[in-house]
Amino acid sequence: MHKYIIMGPQGCGKGTQAKMLADAFDLVHISVGDIFRWNVQAHTKLAAKIKRIMAAGKLVDDEIVDQIVQNRLDEHDWNFGFILDGFPRNATQAEFFLESYDVDAVIHIDVPDDIVVARALARRKCAKCGLDYNLMHHRPETEGVCDVCGGELVTREDDTEQALRKRLHDYKTKTEPTLELFEGKELVIHVDGDGTMEQVQAQIREALNLPPA
Ligand code: AMP
Repeated sequence: MHKYIIMGPQGCGKGTQAKMLADAFDLVHISVGDIFRWNVQAHTKLAAKIKRIMAAGKLVDDEIVDQIVQNRLDEHDWNFGFILDGFPRNATQAEFFLESYDVDAVIHIDVPDDIVVARALARRKCAKCGLDYNLMHHRPETEGVCDVCGGELVTREDDTEQALRKRLHDYKTKTEPTLELFEGKELVIHVDGDGTMEQVQAQIREALNLPPA
């Protein structure tokens, strides 16, 4: 059983790294941002509450986020473990989580601000099948078209420079300090996110004593 949290500023590649780990070790990948985006696309009741907050790059209320994470973990389909991506984002969420659960490690991906912004601005997603692209290192064969399903590639509504700067600010002021909580428990491993997907994954696995890819 492996229970991990992955943290880092938007565009640091944490979603990609989380997916790679989840695939390799049969972990359930719990991305709060993905759950929220699914709700927005499906026009659920929750969508009405979160759509504008997300588009502005602001943080959704803790009560909503905590409930989403708890409901997801309560499904107990994580026989081999889970990796939480995008949660906790502040001290309240971290404390809520630690009341009921524990983790084996917190993976912190470190990337300089300018690289983070450039990468996030290059992100595209297929509007039809949801596949992720990045114009810097995973370009589609035909511009604007998904290689797999032919769907249109779109930008996330919150990937504007203004929303990104807001998210980076929140990350520095609210999320990074929560690392201290986990540092105190000696759970944090730091990896340098300024490398290829494979290099970052290799660093993570080495630090977590997991077999290499
Ligand atoms: P992400 O895909 O992790 O960048 O999340 C996209 C957006 O969803 C964020 O900009 C927030 O508006 C919202 N969100 C995701 N996770 C959280 C969280 N743990 N706390 C508050 N808001 C969140």
